[in-house]
Amino acid sequence: MPDRWSDVDEGELDAHMLVSTGHLPADTDVQALLEEGHARYRSLGDGVVADYIPALACASPEWFGAAIVGTRGGVFQVGDARHEFSIQSVSKPFVFALVVDSLGADEARRRLGVNSTGLPFNSVMAIELGDDRTINPMVNAGAIATTSLVPGDTADDKWRFVLRGLSRFAGRALAIDDEVYASEMSSNRRNQGIAHLLDSYDRMYFDPDAATDVYTRQCSVRVSATDLAVMGATLADGGVNPVTGERVVAASTCRRVLAVLATAGLYEHSGDWLYDVGLPGKSGVSGGIVTIAPGKGAVGTFSPPLDVAGNSVRGQRLTRFLSDRLGLNLFASQPEHERG
Ligand code: GLN
Repeated sequence: MPDRWSDVDEGELDAHMLVSTGHLPADTDVQALLEEGHARYRSLGDGVVADYIPALACASPEWFGAAIVGTRGGVFQVGDARHEFSIQSVSKPFVFALVVDSLGADEARRRLGVNSTGLPFNSVMAIELGDDRTINPMVNAGAIATTSLVPGDTADDKWRFVLRGLSRFAGRALAIDDEVYASEMSSNRRNQGIAHLLDSYDRMYFDPDAATDVYTRQCSVRVSATDLAVMGATLADGGVNPVTGERVVAASTCRRVLAVLATAGLYEHSGDWLYDVGLPGKSGVSGGIVTIAPGKGAVGTFSPPLDVAGNSVRGQRLTRFLSDRLGLNLFASQPEHERG
């Protein structure tokens, strides 16, 4: 939408932007609530471990970890919070953030689209339905297009940029899971098809096979629930990693990325998620979810059994519990006269 609100000078608006305020509750309360929520949902048996990528089928349905990282740098963990798994679709918002930061928010929207699809994560229909054939960067088509826009002349340059960027978000040097990468490369003809379809509409900005390869590597990066919480907390902290103090992306980038997450982060269940949790979040098929409370911090969860849309069952329940009990829901308010 190039001429959308063309009378508005976004740079001018950004320069005068004010933000809402507030912090997480006291450290001891945060840790206690994290443990209470974990105990509450640990024995929940619903959901199925993904197996369409063969290497993911080995995950134990019992694994369950979570972490909260505050914008003041506090790190709270429970259960398998340090267990590593492949990041999968939770990489999408972070690579999108890197691309928005290097291209600018308007150009990224023009080339990638930012509207919700209401359709599954690997939808081909979503491409066909949109008038300008853009989707949004949280579903596979838009995410592969996003990866194709990553700075770099070769696939290796783009991959290095992605790995370095994700590592800066996490505050440590991340690495690829070679087994998951090889396994997905042997079974990702659908993503290759999506990339070629986008290419036929001039919505792929690099060789489609090479872009799908870099995207598949990006999805195979190993992280823990704690890493996801640090990465999310960077988006919650105006683009500065609250643990390392490093600026990773601009504050204006974070705002845009979180808006897209709110509409599409949990695929076709994004509306239900927002209704229950009231925060932008992003799920992945290996069982991770990252949820961002702007200005306050982020929650990272990991539990492999998924619901029909591919979102972790225990992760969604625990995040909802934490959003309510930590006072994170962006849409919640209380009448002024009832406030203490
Ligand atoms: N790498 C996976 C895919 O492209 C990511 C999907 C997901 O996590 N939902 O199919």
